[in-house]
Amino acid sequence: MAPKISFELKATDGKARTGVIDTPRGEIRTPAFMPVGTAATVKAMMPESVRATGADILLGNTYHLMLRPTAERIDRLGGLHKFMNWERPILTDSGGFQVMSLAGLRKLTERGVTFKSHIDGSKHELTPERSMEIQKLLGSDIVMCFDECPALPADRNRIAESMRLSMRWAERSRDAFGDRPGHALFGIMQGGLEQDLREESAEALRGIGFDGYAVGGLAVGEGQEAMFGCLDYAPDMLPQDKPRYLMGVGKPDDIVGAVARGIDMMDCVLPSRSGRTGQAFTRQGVVNIKNARHQDDPRPLDASCSCPACSSYSRAYLHHVFRSNEMISGMLLTWHNLQYFQDIMQGMRDAIAVGTFEAWQKDFHDTRAQGDIDPL
Ligand SMILES: [Zn+2]
Repeated sequence: MAPKISFELKATDGKARTGVIDTPRGEIRTPAFMPVGTAATVKAMMPESVRATGADILLGNTYHLMLRPTAERIDRLGGLHKFMNWERPILTDSGGFQVMSLAGLRKLTERGVTFKSHIDGSKHELTPERSMEIQKLLGSDIVMCFDECPALPADRNRIAESMRLSMRWAERSRDAFGDRPGHALFGIMQGGLEQDLREESAEALRGIGFDGYAVGGLAVGEGQEAMFGCLDYAPDMLPQDKPRYLMGVGKPDDIVGAVARGIDMMDCVLPSRSGRTGQAFTRQGVVNIKNARHQDDPRPLDASCSCPACSSYSRAYLHHVFRSNEMISGMLLTWHNLQYFQDIMQGMRDAIAVGTFEAWQKDFHDTRAQGDIDPL
């Protein structure tokens, strides 16, 4: 029998859920945080180091990979897993969001989007069919529907039109994806902050039928309160027995709030991008390691963290390598940030499993509210 992707819900606590997505390339424990490997690498990290933080799955970006080195080249070289030396599951986005945020001279029609590459100005087209083809060439385990997402705030008519176009593209994505045992296709709900449009979108997606469902169109400038307002109802509109993925989120408290509202998967560049600029996420909040207060500090960045940056180096050393623009600076802090995000996910999975998620959340927020340790 052909291998399938399945989702088993193991426990719920309030609206929060924990479970396992079983794939031919290994299990994905949920709630799951997916580090972003934009250009076939999680920047500043070896794949085995990403795995060591506890990541079960990575995200790859269709837009970047189709432009360079191209999906066809990756296919000829044995697929994305082999190419980047990550044998575990990979989810790829559809390219739609990044075309809208990065590419030049975009033209949107019913058929798809034409655009100019931000790298060399060359002309390209993405359609639902082409996006499915690219994600297949990459060998992605979890494929995302091709969709369109307006930045917020946008007026209701624009959001409604865009959502309905995305639902027609979802149907075309489903048809183009076909039947691929061992690979999953996720639909993407749109509708901005309009509850009735979210319901219309959810109904259209449920009618088509997907292996998982994403909440799209959030974390695009609306702010946390508005995002949580939408997440108070949006996940409930999606099937209970399939994974729910919140795209592009987020900061640690966004992630915890999303899980509390029934989200199972998330991705964000924040831990890796911040790691390269000297911003560390710790149990006691955000630390800017470039700040002069750290230059004589022999203590670890986060005494409760098991990562190499915290177990083998001082704040003073981390400060020094950032001030000196040494490559190890981004490597160490990225590792730490990814470790911290995965520790949050593990903490939530454990707490949901035994029904103590509320207490876990209180402790998470109380510890953050303490702020960083006092300077020496
Ligand atoms: Zn650490």
